[in-house]
Amino acid sequence: MRPSEATNYYFNQAADQLELPDWMRKLLVMPKREMTVQVAYERDDGRIDTVLGYRVQHDNARGPMKGGLRYHPAVDLDEVRSLAALMTWKTAVVDLPYGGAKGGIGIDPRTLSKRELERITRAFVDQIHEIVGPDSDIPAPDMGTNHEVMAWFRNQWEKYHGFNPAVITGKPVEEYGSRGREEATGRGVGTLAVKMLKRLNRKPEQTTVAIQGFGNVGSHAAKYLTEAAFPIVAVSDVSGAYFNPKGLNIPEVLSYTLKNKGSLEGYQGAQRLDADALLELDVQLLIPAALGDVINHNNVDRIRAGLIIEGANGPIDPEADTKLKERGVIILPDILANAGGVTVSYFEWAQNRQHYRWTLDRVRQELDRTLSEAFESVWQESVSRKVSLRTAAFILAIQRVKRASELAGWMV
Ligand code: NAD
Repeated sequence: MRPSEATNYYFNQAADQLELPDWMRKLLVMPKREMTVQVAYERDDGRIDTVLGYRVQHDNARGPMKGGLRYHPAVDLDEVRSLAALMTWKTAVVDLPYGGAKGGIGIDPRTLSKRELERITRAFVDQIHEIVGPDSDIPAPDMGTNHEVMAWFRNQWEKYHGFNPAVITGKPVEEYGSRGREEATGRGVGTLAVKMLKRLNRKPEQTTVAIQGFGNVGSHAAKYLTEAAFPIVAVSDVSGAYFNPKGLNIPEVLSYTLKNKGSLEGYQGAQRLDADALLELDVQLLIPAALGDVINHNNVDRIRAGLIIEGANGPIDPEADTKLKERGVIILPDILANAGGVTVSYFEWAQNRQHYRWTLDRVRQELDRTLSEAFESVWQESVSRKVSLRTAAFILAIQRVKRASELAGWMV
């Protein structure tokens, strides 16, 4: 199943509950605009390389469209299309005044120099600057991009349109970024893990955790969960999985990766396993926080965790999702679980527009409040309709987008 088919499959499960007619489903699912552009840039040795860049704008009924920029070799139009739709449902679940979009370029940033990445980013902005802006579509970081890429993007966009840092979020804090943005997605995953455990009457100290991916989301989730007393027994990145059944020393792992260009490679404080083995460990809580489609028909029967929090976007395919549900596995879906990032991106955009800076305490408090309200609404919806948390989250999101579309007049 292609990524966009998987997203639409989940949409349709909720749309069935809401008994939406076909015309409405089609209108809500089809993206407003898909743009594919040529990105030509100069390599450090003087050669010209040409790659494709994408921006998909899915829906703007609830406000300007919002969504990250991904630099990864697997990026293609269908993946971006799926991620753009997820952003529409995600911003609606946490009730931010936004629609959904996503962008990306099919490159492997690890094989490019910093200057090459800067030139690619600027060339991409040259192609798409007319369709993005603080009131229309606001990009942000995603896999393979970071605050530096956001700063280049803003600088290039402002050459065409003038000063307006609200055009992009996830910027460096000293360059109109928000305090707490970098940690926000991982922190949100951690906050929601604590809330879910409370609801299930379980204790963090007795809940072993494995986290796939130790980048922005995975590392900050690990930090938060360790401070909340969860034993984290395994973490992984592209270099492999690192396992200690007695619990990893996360502060030590974090300082190791800080000194090792962000990588876990060579970490000696744990047993090293194949990267994919992490997913199948006998733990209570599994947090996929790397790629999409990592739990699928090939490995679903070997997944042993009873709880899964989707730090990554689309880590479980629909077939695996159905099997896990049948086995009673509780899954906190991506559109809620990793919404901390877009929530603090919204705070950054609001600060930029107010020309005012919030304290870290304020950002964290408002993040906690936003995610708590969303979690409670999704939980109640799931209980009252007897549906999964995923279907409940989609139901809430669809109702909000549908209402905004109705109020605006469907054909806007
Ligand atoms: P990142 O680039 O900072 O980190 C990705 C991590 O995954 C790295 O540690 C990488 O080594 C690891 N990884 C890659 N392939 C792997 C594999 N096969 N096995 C194990 N680890 C592997 O990316 P990120 O920003 O942390 O994003 C991770 C996921 O979270 C993505 O799905 C992204 O869409 C989603 N997400 C990110 C944010 C955000 O604010 N950054 C917000 C919402 C959702």
